[in-house]
Amino acid sequence: MRHYNIAVDGPSGAGKSTLARRLARALGCLYVDTGALYRTIALWMLREHAETEEEITGKLSGLTVTMDYLEGEQHVFANGEDVTPYIRTAEVSMAASRVSAIPAVREFLFRLQQSLAEEHSVVMDGRDIGTVVLPDAEVKIYLTASAETRAQRRFLELEEKQPGAQTYEDVLRDVIRRDEQDMNREISPLRQAEDAVLVDTSEADLDESEQMLLDVCKEKLGL
Ligand code: C5P
Repeated sequence: MRHYNIAVDGPSGAGKSTLARRLARALGCLYVDTGALYRTIALWMLREHAETEEEITGKLSGLTVTMDYLEGEQHVFANGEDVTPYIRTAEVSMAASRVSAIPAVREFLFRLQQSLAEEHSVVMDGRDIGTVVLPDAEVKIYLTASAETRAQRRFLELEEKQPGAQTYEDVLRDVIRRDEQDMNREISPLRQAEDAVLVDTSEADLDESEQMLLDVCKEKLGL
């Protein structure tokens, strides 16, 4: 089978993980959610009470992050423990955004991400996949939507899990704060790669968005 990689970058709540997963299934590639890797480190550092850059950098040598696929779903492991159920809280989201600005953390995950993309054809989603991790990816997509649309989607998602635990305004504030952190950090800031195709899903539902992404991939890959 032909080997190719597809990079999907964009801010939180643009639908990256759902759409990248669907795209991978449609094309028969491996889906790699790199945010889950940053979240794994963030969870570990919260548990270890490591807060400063120095403390976090120091604790990295005691951590091994791995991933595996159980019934087709990506699971992440911290020193062998499956931490997948614990990485989606608001606390871990905010901590992930913070730890991901630390150079040693990005370096730590760089090799893992690259070797996955060498071994498999991947759809990899994140913030710097097209710009830094896989600069030679055959297809690069920058997926975005307005902050209000993204907050609304995330709010509905969270409400399903924990009704009443948050307001839309809380979620919008977090979305904007996380965008700011991700776009303005010094190392690997979130930005559209020059050769990435911009896909805005503000006005599209999931099926329409998936079709837009598939069309981009088919054109770029000549399928
Ligand atoms: O995509 P997700 O919301 O799971 O990512 C969590 C956090 O991890 C993001 O806010 C971002 O700061 C960081 N991240 C990153 N680079 C990636 C993927 C995620 O900096 N490739």
